[in-house]
Amino acid sequence: MAGEPACPTFSFELYPPRTPAAEAKLFESIDRLSAVGPEFISVTYRPTGPDRAASLAVLGRLIREHRVRAMAHLTCVGSSYSEASHVIREFLDEGVTSFLALRGDPPPGQSEDDDFLGDISTAGELVQLIHRVQAERSPFSFEEMPGFPSAKRLRSGEKVTIAVATFPNGHPRSRSRAQDIDTLLAKEAAGANLAITQLFFAADEYLEFVADARAAGVTMRILPGIMPVLSIARLHRILELSGESMPQQLLAALEAAPDSEAAARVGLDASIELARGVLAGGADGLHLYTFNNADAPLAVLEGAGLLDTTARQPSQ
Ligand code: FAD
Repeated sequence: MAGEPACPTFSFELYPPRTPAAEAKLFESIDRLSAVGPEFISVTYRPTGPDRAASLAVLGRLIREHRVRAMAHLTCVGSSYSEASHVIREFLDEGVTSFLALRGDPPPGQSEDDDFLGDISTAGELVQLIHRVQAERSPFSFEEMPGFPSAKRLRSGEKVTIAVATFPNGHPRSRSRAQDIDTLLAKEAAGANLAITQLFFAADEYLEFVADARAAGVTMRILPGIMPVLSIARLHRILELSGESMPQQLLAALEAAPDSEAAARVGLDASIELARGVLAGGADGLHLYTFNNADAPLAVLEGAGLLDTTARQPSQ
């Protein structure tokens, strides 16, 4: 990535709002999340329905009003090459220069076995396409020469950050750890320069995966994705969506909590312990899944020692 950030870093994931009330709440959260100086804020993407325009609108506001580095998730779902190129240009025009290139989940009503992709079938191909569109759009530019007010010099094409997903406990379709790491190596070879992990529940799952990836030759940063899970209902939902296995210890602790407030505290403490564990093992940052709420991610950062307590504002 251009200009290596001071470590450890932290970053956040949001999703586009679906109602005006959700939008107002999201921007309250963004005010608080952007105030603590994240490396970037990423916004999830669905290619169909109103979500695409909503993602673009949130990204634009992050860039213009919050002056935060905004990372756009993009997927391969249902696009021809020319449609995908058009979408990438649209995001670049909005000022987005960081992307998370993904294959994408099947649209509602379709499964992994359906033919839901388009001309592009893997995240690696999408990484290559983003680089190609960026290079065509901005092959070179000029910059001022310090000390020579009227002179300009040629600057090579602007570089984009292209992140990719990776799976410490294996992608649901993957047959082996070796296949997951080969896929990650292929994404780096295609031009990815940052990886973000799927959620996981034990620090060793991340640390052992990173050690294996490094041994195989992966050199890009691999940010651990941490999801505070504050209720049993949320735990079931995210496992359904991600295909991850049930963390039995966390489930038992959530079940033993006398009420929803105590359960939320159990979930938060588990995320803080996880964040501390990956940082102690050498992770150079944390990527927090926020569910558009600032309280839990800020509490995790504070518990992990990455946030000055005075930077937190009380919840509304
Ligand atoms: P890929 O890496 O392209 O492929 C997935 C798996 O297929 C690989 O792990 C590998 O096992 C296999 N594979 C890939 N290439 C090959 C090959 N050449 N040969 C053999 N096998 C291969 N989904 C959304 O729809 N929108 C989002 O905004 C979104 N955000 C996400 C953010 C993060 C941090 C993560 C971890 C996931 C996100 N997802 C999102 C979900 C993601 O789209 C799914 O997990 C999808 O199933 C895999 O995406 P991928 O980019 O890893 O795919």
